[in-house]
Amino acid sequence: MLASTCVEKSVAKRFQESLYPAWGQNFRVDEVLFESRTDHQHLIIFRNERFGTVMALDGVIQTTEKDEFVYHEMLTHVPMFAHGNARRVLIIGGGDGGILREVLKHPGVEQVVQVEIDAAVIDMCKKYLPNHSAGAFEDPRVKIVIQDGVDFVLENREAFDVIISDSTDPEGPGEVLFTSRFYQACKNSLTEGGILATQNGVCFMQLDELQTTWRRFEGIFADRWFYGAAVPTYVGGIMTLAWGTDDPTLRRHGLETIAERVEQAGFSTRYYTPEIHVAAFALPKYVTDAINTAESA
Ligand code: SAM
Repeated sequence: MLASTCVEKSVAKRFQESLYPAWGQNFRVDEVLFESRTDHQHLIIFRNERFGTVMALDGVIQTTEKDEFVYHEMLTHVPMFAHGNARRVLIIGGGDGGILREVLKHPGVEQVVQVEIDAAVIDMCKKYLPNHSAGAFEDPRVKIVIQDGVDFVLENREAFDVIISDSTDPEGPGEVLFTSRFYQACKNSLTEGGILATQNGVCFMQLDELQTTWRRFEGIFADRWFYGAAVPTYVGGIMTLAWGTDDPTLRRHGLETIAERVEQAGFSTRYYTPEIHVAAFALPKYVTDAINTAESA
Protein backbone atom coordinates (compact mmCIF):
# COMPACT_ATOMS: atom_id res chain seq x y z
CA MET A 1 0.00 0.00 0.00
CA LEU A 2 2.63 2.61 0.88
CA ALA A 3 5.37 2.72 -1.74
CA SER A 4 8.18 5.23 -2.08
CA THR A 5 8.70 6.62 -5.54
CA CYS A 6 11.12 9.25 -6.74
CA VAL A 7 9.11 12.22 -7.88
CA GLU A 8 10.66 15.56 -8.99
CA LYS A 9 13.98 14.51 -7.41
CA SER A 10 12.35 13.96 -4.01
CA VAL A 11 11.02 10.76 -2.51
CA ALA A 12 7.25 10.96 -2.10
CA LYS A 13 5.38 8.14 -0.43
CA ARG A 14 2.32 6.97 -2.35
CA PHE A 15 -0.73 4.94 -1.31
CA GLN A 16 -1.68 2.40 -3.99
CA GLU A 17 -5.26 1.19 -3.57
CA SER A 18 -5.42 -2.63 -3.75
CA LEU A 19 -9.15 -3.20 -4.40
CA TYR A 20 -8.53 -4.24 -8.03
CA PRO A 21 -5.32 -6.21 -8.62
CA ALA A 22 -4.92 -5.10 -12.24
CA TRP A 23 -5.71 -1.39 -11.87
CA GLY A 24 -6.28 1.25 -9.31
CA GLN A 25 -5.78 4.74 -8.03
CA ASN A 26 -2.89 6.01 -6.02
CA PHE A 27 -2.45 9.03 -3.79
CA ARG A 28 0.65 10.98 -2.91
CA VAL A 29 0.93 10.64 0.85
CA ASP A 30 1.83 14.09 2.19
CA GLU A 31 1.61 13.00 5.83
CA VAL A 32 0.60 9.77 7.59
CA LEU A 33 -1.61 10.76 10.52
CA PHE A 34 -2.36 7.28 11.85
CA GLU A 35 -1.61 3.73 10.83
CA SER A 36 -2.35 0.52 12.73
CA ARG A 37 -3.61 -3.01 12.43
CA THR A 38 -6.73 -2.99 14.60
CA ASP A 39 -8.45 -6.15 15.89
CA HIS A 40 -10.28 -6.31 12.56
CA GLN A 41 -8.43 -4.59 9.73
CA HIS A 42 -5.50 -2.40 8.61
CA LEU A 43 -6.41 1.25 9.21
CA ILE A 44 -4.50 4.18 7.72
CA ILE A 45 -5.35 7.87 7.75
CA PHE A 46 -3.18 10.20 5.71
CA ARG A 47 -3.17 13.64 4.18
CA ASN A 48 -3.26 14.25 0.42
CA GLU A 49 -3.08 17.69 -1.17
CA ARG A 50 -6.03 17.04 -3.52
CA PHE A 51 -8.46 15.10 -1.31
CA GLY A 52 -7.52 16.34 2.15
CA THR A 53 -7.53 13.71 4.91
CA VAL A 54 -8.08 10.20 3.52
CA MET A 55 -8.99 6.99 5.36
CA ALA A 56 -8.40 3.48 3.99
CA LEU A 57 -9.15 0.04 5.41
CA ASP A 58 -7.28 -3.06 4.26
CA GLY A 59 -5.85 -1.12 1.33
CA VAL A 60 -9.21 0.19 0.10
CA ILE A 61 -10.15 3.87 0.11
CA GLN A 62 -13.13 4.38 2.45
CA THR A 63 -13.61 8.12 2.57
CA THR A 64 -11.91 11.44 1.92
CA GLU A 65 -12.49 14.88 3.36
CA LYS A 66 -13.14 16.45 -0.04
CA ASP A 67 -15.66 14.08 -1.64
CA GLU A 68 -17.34 12.29 1.32
CA PHE A 69 -20.47 14.45 1.01
CA VAL A 70 -21.49 12.78 -2.26
CA TYR A 71 -21.69 9.26 -0.88
CA HIS A 72 -23.01 10.16 2.59
CA GLU A 73 -25.78 12.37 1.20
CA MET A 74 -26.88 9.81 -1.40
CA LEU A 75 -26.78 6.71 0.82
CA THR A 76 -28.78 8.62 3.45
CA HIS A 77 -31.21 11.06 1.83
CA VAL A 78 -32.54 8.85 -0.96
CA PRO A 79 -34.03 6.25 1.46
CA MET A 80 -34.91 8.86 4.08
CA PHE A 81 -36.83 11.15 1.72
CA ALA A 82 -38.34 8.19 -0.14
CA HIS A 83 -39.67 6.86 3.17
CA GLY A 84 -40.86 10.29 4.23
CA ASN A 85 -41.43 9.59 7.91
CA ALA A 86 -38.46 7.63 9.28
CA ARG A 87 -38.24 7.92 13.05
CA ARG A 88 -35.95 5.02 13.94
CA VAL A 89 -32.87 4.35 11.81
CA LEU A 90 -30.25 1.59 11.99
CA ILE A 91 -26.77 2.13 10.55
CA ILE A 92 -24.48 -0.86 10.06
CA GLY A 93 -20.80 0.09 9.75
CA GLY A 94 -20.26 3.74 8.93
CA GLY A 95 -17.50 4.18 11.51
CA ASP A 96 -16.39 7.53 10.09
CA GLY A 97 -19.72 9.07 11.15
CA GLY A 98 -20.69 10.61 7.81
CA ILE A 99 -23.94 8.66 7.44
CA LEU A 100 -24.84 9.34 11.09
CA ARG A 101 -24.30 13.08 10.57
CA GLU A 102 -26.63 13.11 7.56
CA VAL A 103 -29.35 10.93 9.17
CA LEU A 104 -29.54 13.26 12.18
CA LYS A 105 -30.33 16.21 9.89
CA HIS A 106 -33.82 14.77 9.36
CA PRO A 107 -36.05 16.50 11.94
CA GLY A 108 -38.37 13.50 12.39
CA VAL A 109 -35.59 11.12 13.47
CA GLU A 110 -36.07 10.06 17.09
CA GLN A 111 -33.44 7.34 17.48
CA VAL A 112 -30.42 6.11 15.54
CA VAL A 113 -28.66 2.87 16.44
CA GLN A 114 -25.23 2.49 14.83
CA VAL A 115 -23.51 -0.92 14.88
CA GLU A 116 -19.81 -0.72 14.05
CA ILE A 117 -17.43 -3.67 14.43
CA ASP A 118 -14.27 -1.62 14.97
CA ALA A 119 -14.18 1.02 17.72
CA ALA A 120 -10.77 2.17 16.44
CA VAL A 121 -12.37 3.47 13.25
CA ILE A 122 -14.80 5.62 15.24
CA ASP A 123 -12.08 6.85 17.61
CA MET A 124 -9.56 7.69 14.89
CA CYS A 125 -12.12 9.30 12.59
CA LYS A 126 -13.37 11.46 15.46
CA LYS A 127 -9.76 12.59 15.94
CA TYR A 128 -8.52 12.95 12.35
CA LEU A 129 -11.77 13.39 10.36
CA PRO A 130 -13.84 15.38 12.88
CA ASN A 131 -16.01 17.03 10.22
CA HIS A 132 -17.34 13.64 9.11
CA SER A 133 -19.28 13.08 12.33
CA ALA A 134 -19.35 16.78 13.31
CA GLY A 135 -20.48 15.88 16.83
CA ALA A 136 -23.05 13.29 15.67
CA PHE A 137 -21.69 10.57 17.97
CA GLU A 138 -22.60 12.77 20.95
CA ASP A 139 -26.20 13.41 19.82
CA PRO A 140 -28.64 12.20 22.55
CA ARG A 141 -30.68 10.31 19.91
CA VAL A 142 -27.71 8.08 19.08
CA LYS A 143 -26.82 4.66 20.49
CA ILE A 144 -23.48 3.21 19.37
CA VAL A 145 -23.05 -0.57 19.53
CA ILE A 146 -19.61 -2.10 18.93
CA GLN A 147 -20.50 -5.48 17.42
CA ASP A 148 -20.45 -7.40 14.15
CA GLY A 149 -23.44 -6.05 12.23
CA VAL A 150 -24.66 -9.49 11.20
CA ASP A 151 -24.77 -10.67 14.83
CA PHE A 152 -26.68 -7.55 15.82
CA VAL A 153 -29.41 -7.94 13.21
CA LEU A 154 -29.71 -11.70 13.84
CA GLU A 155 -30.34 -11.03 17.55
CA ASN A 156 -32.31 -7.80 17.05
CA ARG A 157 -35.99 -7.64 18.02
CA GLU A 158 -36.55 -3.88 17.47
CA ALA A 159 -38.07 -2.40 14.30
CA PHE A 160 -36.47 0.32 12.18
CA ASP A 161 -37.95 2.43 9.40
CA VAL A 162 -34.69 2.71 7.45
CA ILE A 163 -31.59 0.51 7.65
CA ILE A 164 -28.39 1.75 6.00
CA SER A 165 -25.48 -0.65 5.54
CA ASP A 166 -22.38 1.48 5.07
CA SER A 167 -19.87 -1.33 5.04
CA THR A 168 -16.50 -2.08 3.52
CA ASP A 169 -16.44 -4.35 0.48
CA PRO A 170 -17.44 -8.05 0.62
CA GLU A 171 -14.07 -9.28 1.89
CA GLY A 172 -12.67 -9.39 5.41
CA PRO A 173 -15.08 -8.19 8.12
CA GLY A 174 -17.47 -6.73 5.56
CA GLU A 175 -18.13 -10.02 3.78
CA VAL A 176 -20.96 -11.11 6.13
CA LEU A 177 -22.85 -7.88 5.33
CA PHE A 178 -23.47 -9.10 1.77
CA THR A 179 -25.06 -12.45 2.70
CA SER A 180 -28.68 -13.58 2.38
CA ARG A 181 -28.89 -14.20 6.11
CA PHE A 182 -27.82 -10.59 6.76
CA TYR A 183 -30.37 -9.26 4.27
CA GLN A 184 -33.15 -11.47 5.69
CA ALA A 185 -32.30 -10.37 9.24
CA CYS A 186 -32.41 -6.73 8.08
CA LYS A 187 -35.81 -7.35 6.52
CA ASN A 188 -37.00 -8.86 9.81
CA SER A 189 -35.80 -5.65 11.53
CA LEU A 190 -37.76 -3.30 9.26
CA THR A 191 -41.16 -1.78 9.99
CA GLU A 192 -43.86 -2.22 7.34
CA GLY A 193 -42.82 -0.11 4.36
CA GLY A 194 -39.27 0.08 5.70
CA ILE A 195 -36.25 0.43 3.40
CA LEU A 196 -32.80 -1.21 3.36
CA ALA A 197 -30.10 0.70 1.44
CA THR A 198 -26.59 -0.70 1.15
CA GLN A 199 -23.18 0.11 -0.27
CA ASN A 200 -22.86 -2.22 -3.26
CA GLY A 201 -19.68 -1.23 -5.10
CA VAL A 202 -18.84 0.47 -8.38
CA CYS A 203 -20.99 -1.34 -10.93
CA PHE A 204 -18.52 -1.13 -13.84
CA MET A 205 -15.81 -2.76 -11.70
CA GLN A 206 -17.93 -4.95 -9.39
CA LEU A 207 -20.87 -5.97 -11.60
CA ASP A 208 -20.77 -9.53 -10.30
CA GLU A 209 -21.35 -8.21 -6.78
CA LEU A 210 -24.39 -6.30 -7.99
CA GLN A 211 -25.75 -9.47 -9.61
CA THR A 212 -25.14 -11.42 -6.41
CA THR A 213 -27.06 -8.85 -4.37
CA TRP A 214 -29.89 -8.91 -6.91
CA ARG A 215 -30.18 -12.68 -6.52
CA ARG A 216 -29.87 -12.57 -2.74
CA PHE A 217 -32.58 -9.89 -2.41
CA GLU A 218 -35.02 -12.13 -4.28
CA GLY A 219 -37.63 -13.63 -1.98
CA ILE A 220 -36.66 -11.18 0.78
CA PHE A 221 -37.83 -7.86 -0.70
CA ALA A 222 -40.85 -7.47 -2.95
CA ASP A 223 -39.11 -4.48 -4.53
CA ARG A 224 -35.34 -4.59 -5.19
CA TRP A 225 -33.30 -2.20 -7.28
CA PHE A 226 -30.17 -0.04 -7.31
CA TYR A 227 -29.39 3.62 -7.58
CA GLY A 228 -26.23 5.48 -8.45
CA ALA A 229 -23.94 8.21 -7.19
CA ALA A 230 -20.78 9.61 -8.78
CA VAL A 231 -18.17 9.45 -6.02
CA PRO A 232 -14.74 10.56 -7.34
CA THR A 233 -12.61 8.32 -5.11
CA TYR A 234 -14.73 5.19 -5.63
CA VAL A 235 -12.99 4.80 -8.94
CA GLY A 236 -14.24 3.12 -12.10
CA GLY A 237 -17.62 4.74 -12.61
CA ILE A 238 -20.78 5.28 -10.57
CA MET A 239 -21.08 3.78 -7.10
CA THR A 240 -24.21 1.61 -7.00
CA LEU A 241 -26.31 1.45 -3.86
CA ALA A 242 -28.72 -1.45 -3.33
CA TRP A 243 -32.37 -0.87 -2.50
CA GLY A 244 -34.73 -3.32 -0.80
CA THR A 245 -38.28 -2.76 0.42
CA ASP A 246 -41.73 -4.32 0.18
CA ASP A 247 -43.32 -1.08 -1.03
CA PRO A 248 -42.63 -0.60 -4.76
CA THR A 249 -43.99 2.95 -4.72
CA LEU A 250 -41.19 4.27 -2.50
CA ARG A 251 -38.56 4.54 -5.25
CA ARG A 252 -41.12 5.87 -7.71
CA HIS A 253 -42.09 9.13 -5.95
CA GLY A 254 -42.34 12.02 -8.38
CA LEU A 255 -40.12 15.07 -8.27
CA GLU A 256 -42.87 17.14 -6.64
CA THR A 257 -43.23 14.82 -3.64
CA ILE A 258 -39.49 14.61 -3.03
CA ALA A 259 -39.02 18.37 -3.52
CA GLU A 260 -41.81 19.04 -1.01
CA ARG A 261 -40.20 16.74 1.58
CA VAL A 262 -36.78 18.31 1.05
CA GLU A 263 -38.30 21.75 1.47
CA GLN A 264 -40.01 20.67 4.71
CA ALA A 265 -36.85 19.10 6.13
CA GLY A 266 -35.17 22.49 5.79
CA PHE A 267 -31.49 21.55 5.55
CA SER A 268 -29.03 22.12 2.71
CA THR A 269 -26.97 19.59 0.78
CA ARG A 270 -24.01 19.77 -1.63
CA TYR A 271 -24.71 16.88 -4.01
CA TYR A 272 -28.21 15.50 -3.31
CA THR A 273 -31.15 17.31 -4.97
CA PRO A 274 -34.72 16.13 -5.64
CA GLU A 275 -33.81 15.88 -9.34
CA ILE A 276 -30.77 13.70 -8.60
CA HIS A 277 -32.89 11.60 -6.23
CA VAL A 278 -35.37 10.75 -8.99
CA ALA A 279 -32.70 10.33 -11.67
CA ALA A 280 -30.45 8.12 -9.52
CA PHE A 281 -32.75 5.13 -9.97
CA ALA A 282 -32.20 5.22 -13.75
CA LEU A 283 -29.49 2.64 -14.40
CA PRO A 284 -27.19 2.26 -17.45
CA LYS A 285 -28.23 -0.40 -20.00
CA TYR A 286 -25.22 -2.66 -19.19
CA VAL A 287 -26.42 -2.73 -15.58
CA THR A 288 -30.05 -3.55 -16.37
CA ASP A 289 -28.80 -6.20 -18.82
CA ALA A 290 -26.67 -7.68 -16.02
CA ILE A 291 -29.71 -7.69 -13.73
CA ASN A 292 -31.75 -9.51 -16.36
CA THR A 293 -29.03 -12.14 -16.85
CA ALA A 294 -28.67 -12.51 -13.08
CA GLU A 295 -32.41 -13.11 -12.94
CA SER A 296 -32.29 -15.97 -15.41
CA ALA A 297 -29.16 -17.56 -13.87
N1 SAM B 1 -18.02 4.37 2.30
C1 SAM B 1 -17.19 3.19 2.44
C2 SAM B 1 -17.36 2.28 1.25
O1 SAM B 1 -18.23 2.57 0.43
O2 SAM B 1 -16.60 1.31 1.16
C3 SAM B 1 -17.50 2.53 3.75
C4 SAM B 1 -17.00 3.37 4.84
S1 SAM B 1 -17.21 2.86 6.48
C5 SAM B 1 -15.69 3.39 7.09
C6 SAM B 1 -17.10 1.09 6.45
C7 SAM B 1 -17.23 0.60 7.88
O3 SAM B 1 -17.75 -0.74 7.91
C8 SAM B 1 -15.92 0.54 8.67
O4 SAM B 1 -16.01 1.41 9.77
C9 SAM B 1 -15.79 -0.93 9.09
O5 SAM B 1 -15.16 -1.09 10.35
C10 SAM B 1 -17.24 -1.33 9.12
N2 SAM B 1 -17.49 -2.78 9.08
C11 SAM B 1 -16.91 -3.70 8.28
N3 SAM B 1 -17.42 -4.92 8.52
C12 SAM B 1 -18.37 -4.77 9.50
C13 SAM B 1 -19.24 -5.65 10.17
N4 SAM B 1 -19.25 -6.97 9.88
N5 SAM B 1 -20.08 -5.16 11.12
C14 SAM B 1 -20.08 -3.82 11.39
N6 SAM B 1 -19.26 -2.92 10.81
C15 SAM B 1 -18.41 -3.40 9.86
